[in-house]
Amino acid sequence: MAAAAAAARDRVRYPVNAASKFFLCSQCRNHLFPHADFSGQSPSWPGVSQGVVCRAAVNVREDDTPRLLHHCRVVNVHCDQCDRHIGERFTEPANVTGLHELQGNCYLFHNDKLLYWDGSSLRSSTGEQIIIHENGYQGAAHGDL
Ligand SMILES: [Zn+2]
Repeated sequence: MAAAAAAARDRVRYPVNAASKFFLCSQCRNHLFPHADFSGQSPSWPGVSQGVVCRAAVNVREDDTPRLLHHCRVVNVHCDQCDRHIGERFTEPANVTGLHELQGNCYLFHNDKLLYWDGSSLRSSTGEQIIIHENGYQGAAHGDL
């Protein structure tokens, strides 16, 4: 319990205000990365969830053992709060046509595992608005984002 409490206290939290834009875990609302680190949407790729590419992330845990994903070496990335598998990190440049966005050491987070705070409301990462932020966020596990 003490270790878990310490980990929760150490998690990065982005400010939830009009000047802030960032991505969150769709299951537990753990904060993951700011819009400033967003590199783009991944191309359509057989067998891989379409997702959001970013250069860095916080509050995540990575598997130790790499696996091959379309000939690219990746490790699975989990939310460090709810432990859900939410994406992959490419540990070396991806030499696949159309995947120049996926150079080494970038993250690919699955669209359906993300939410996006756009400065005024919470949306799915594909842009559909799902929650209006009015009298505080409803449904957050900890009473805040
Ligand atoms: Zn989570």
